[in-house]
Amino acid sequence: MTEVYRGRFAPSPTGPLHFGSLVTALASYLDARAHNGVWLVRIEDLDPLRESPAATEQILASLTAHGLESDEPVRLQSRHHQRYQQIIDNLLQHGRAYRCICSRRQLQESQGRHPNRCRKGSITADRVNHQPCAVRFALEDEDAHWQDQLLGPQCQQIRGEIDDPVIRRKEGFYAYQLAVVADDIDQQITRVVRGSDLLDMTAQQCQIYRTLGSRAPAWLHIPVILNGQGQKLSKQNLAPALDNLRPGENLLSALVALAQDVSDFTTTDPVAHILQTAAARWQPSRIHLTAR
Ligand code: GLU
Repeated sequence: MTEVYRGRFAPSPTGPLHFGSLVTALASYLDARAHNGVWLVRIEDLDPLRESPAATEQILASLTAHGLESDEPVRLQSRHHQRYQQIIDNLLQHGRAYRCICSRRQLQESQGRHPNRCRKGSITADRVNHQPCAVRFALEDEDAHWQDQLLGPQCQQIRGEIDDPVIRRKEGFYAYQLAVVADDIDQQITRVVRGSDLLDMTAQQCQIYRTLGSRAPAWLHIPVILNGQGQKLSKQNLAPALDNLRPGENLLSALVALAQDVSDFTTTDPVAHILQTAAARWQPSRIHLTAR
């Protein structure tokens, strides 16, 4: 039996949707539709200090204006803290995560080794001398090999202890590296299409999947869109919000950025027509790989 394709777009709500995120959303949408798959939207709202409910609303409104609507109810990570904590408790119990009190400076000074020997599981409470601890995933050393559907074979070296990612920050916030894997497992995602700025995270994520007893999805990383200064379009670089009143124009520009065939389209075409036709013509192999 062939597996049902399930893809997703998973923005962090740090600001309104900009052109770079539209390109990623569109690529994941078209890839899902081209495989007759399910396409989901998930809001990765893990950091209330950097993110806002207003940005979530703006992103969802912008996606809707561009015809990009989730096939299932939008999942908000802020509603799944219990699940992340359950996983962390389990990892702590099995020695695959540890509480860490090392400061960034201490870690820097000792080349990523933990001077407080916390990796040995010596800290058993969430606070030490009233100071909250972070929790890190204990990676195993590995030369990880995996296949990217666009970029081909990938190899990344993992050196546990030095590379161990934080999975719960000392402020108590759950971290991306765990939540993304937990949700992709829970939502049965079979293929992840996302920006190549996340390429370096992939080998660690594959190891987390394995540790949680799940198979990693197929990956397809697309080059990130750069501004005139060669920086990734992002809120930090003041990328402008998309104009929701020009969805046709924005979609066509995004298709051009993905090097897709835009012949016969006009900016006044209904978005449903653009999306349907673009999905039927979708050829990820046309994407220019220059940005990475
Ligand atoms: N939330 C992440 C971001 O906005 C993307 C997560 C992912 O696609 O794996 O950069």
